[in-house]
Amino acid sequence: MTELAIADPVTSLKGVGTKLAEKLDKLGIRQIQDLLFHLPLRYQDRTRLMPIGSLRPQQEILIEGVIQLSQVKFGRRRSLLCHISDGTGALVLRFFHFSKSQQQQLAKGQRIRCFGEVRSGPSALEMVHPEYQLIHGDVPFSVEEALTPVYPTTEGLHQLSWRKLLNQALKLLDQQTMPSYLPEALLDPRVAHFDLTQALKYVHLPPPDCDVGQLIAREHPAQKRLAFEELLAQQLSMRQIRYRAQQHQAPKFNADMFSEKFLQQLPFPLTSAQQRVIKEIRKDLQQNIPMQRLVQGDVGSGKTVVAALSALMAVSSGYQAVMMAPTELLAEQHYQTFRNWLEPLGIQVGWCAGKQTAAQRRQVIAALAEGEINIAVGTHALFQDEVTFNRLGLVIIDEQHRFGVHQRMALRDKGKAVDILPHQLVMTATPIPRTLAMTAYADLNVSVIDELPPGRQPVTTVVVADNRRQEVIERIHVACQQKRQVYWVCTLIEESEHLQCQAAEDTAEQLQQALPDLRIALVHGRMKSAEKEQVMQAFKQGEIDLLVATTVIEVGVDVPNASLMVIENAERLGLAQLHQLRGRVGRGTVQSHCVLMYHPPLSENGLARLACLRESNDGFVIAQRDLEIRGPGEVLGTRQTGLPQFRVADLLADQDLLPAVTKAAETLITQHPENVAPLINRWFGTKLNFGQV
Ligand code: ADP
Ligand code: MG
Repeated sequence: MTELAIADPVTSLKGVGTKLAEKLDKLGIRQIQDLLFHLPLRYQDRTRLMPIGSLRPQQEILIEGVIQLSQVKFGRRRSLLCHISDGTGALVLRFFHFSKSQQQQLAKGQRIRCFGEVRSGPSALEMVHPEYQLIHGDVPFSVEEALTPVYPTTEGLHQLSWRKLLNQALKLLDQQTMPSYLPEALLDPRVAHFDLTQALKYVHLPPPDCDVGQLIAREHPAQKRLAFEELLAQQLSMRQIRYRAQQHQAPKFNADMFSEKFLQQLPFPLTSAQQRVIKEIRKDLQQNIPMQRLVQGDVGSGKTVVAALSALMAVSSGYQAVMMAPTELLAEQHYQTFRNWLEPLGIQVGWCAGKQTAAQRRQVIAALAEGEINIAVGTHALFQDEVTFNRLGLVIIDEQHRFGVHQRMALRDKGKAVDILPHQLVMTATPIPRTLAMTAYADLNVSVIDELPPGRQPVTTVVVADNRRQEVIERIHVACQQKRQVYWVCTLIEESEHLQCQAAEDTAEQLQQALPDLRIALVHGRMKSAEKEQVMQAFKQGEIDLLVATTVIEVGVDVPNASLMVIENAERLGLAQLHQLRGRVGRGTVQSHCVLMYHPPLSENGLARLACLRESNDGFVIAQRDLEIRGPGEVLGTRQTGLPQFRVADLLADQDLLPAVTKAAETLITQHPENVAPLINRWFGTKLNFGQV
């Protein structure tokens, strides 16, 4: 047999035909070495039997016991229940699907060994459809010798296939070592116990004497070694994007003919945080290198003014600016604000969104291309191929966590001319914990607006069960009598948007019946944008007392007289999202309130989460808590945006490595630049190649 090499295609392995190769290709696995970087998601411990009396829910374990009672229950779903015991405790096995012969086998007195996840059932701990094996007579006790890796997979590719593939790939590592792109000196001492080859072998095939707990908790030095390299590869790729962008020229915005006038007509002075951030931006915009800056500021901190002032810099110097927002409602609001602020200065503001008529769109597109529009505001519609600019100098993206890196690039590239790249300003109200910002936004400089405009009072938050709905409704009545306005947010689980809107309509109707003298309106995602705008305008102008809405109002909507918000089924949303919603009130000078209504029973943890909102109005604290509870993917919205999902690294668990990773990234770029590309490729393949500019 000819000798295989780790760089050979996977098809040279035994058992890999075209079908399997295609599946692997979809996961980015082409060469044998790509397989080695397909790392286990977790491990199953089939190496020891656990006493049933010691079990806790969520554990995935191996147990053995004797069936004490076996019965078919007819409830909502017919199920076979086997009560087993091992002398230390008892547990129920639950089967929803079972054959006659299975039922006969699983009879009283039978010894059985099961592997599965423990859950808490209605009366006792349970395992639902465990893997099981019947034990007859005195078979010698045998269990797996090592932990069983569980791989991330795709449909039709079983764990067994992965193990077979990896066994072949790992054999190659006995004769060949993986090239190390990381000089020893760059490794943090905490992760230097293992070289790359050893680490890979260890995590795929943990030896029998490994520290099981450590491995399952993802704290093993072998995992840390890999996590370090993965985090490094990720930072390098982000820096590469930045570096490549900086090889381009950007227009210098030196003229500043509008700012003074603009600030004079603004009904409030800027906070010192706003002034500081604008100064930072201005400094960037006066360079001929593309700005890449993230402005973080809690809801209501006043990011829109900062955006407007930046856009004015572009316009002063004869360039166009574009501002994109994630929802039509928010984009419309920005459009109105910009028009109010900027048209008196003689600046043309244009509007581009999905729900325009074809004629309107043609007109905007032509005006943008001709340069008649100075500032374009809109939604994703700005990405369309037909949209071109005359002289695009600045791209502003609001609520950036809703967009992916790709989208940011796509918009920026619209302003790309021969060697010119527009400046980029991205804004977010999700206060990203520092650790995440360093990793997720390594391509951006960060400015923070860490101060709210004066006079704002923190929103008082209460958490109540929905059996107190009547009280809440009375409270709405009182607020409206005092000429305050109220939001009622429906957070519904229905999968279809249609059903969601339907349910919101029902709620609005019920509330109207309960509060006949109030002016109640509804806004949801399926309404025409003109209708939505009309409702929002009416609400803004005080013609509506109570606005029932779906979470479409989450971002940015600004009505200072609204001082009470009720969020129904608050337990269904993430903390950061709730905080965003709550930010819709407390924007004026009166004391505002937020009622988080939940549907009991709610777990202790669920209540603790909501309590966190009651206790804090600080977006950073809440984001950190959200991060701990839900993980970085949810906080950053990476599920939708396609930031890389890590294979071993975990931004929370590995945050102690980040300073060393950052340092290593710098050294590698300056001293071993030839290693950068292969390292990124090894971990992220071609997926990350959006950095081409
Ligand atoms: P966000 O940061 O959430 O986007 P906005 O830009 O929408 O916040 O501003 C929230 C509200 O605060 C708006 O009504 C805005 O006009 C107002 N505002 C912004 N800056 C100041 C300031 N310095 N003083 C008083 N009000 C301000
Ligand atoms: Mg905003």
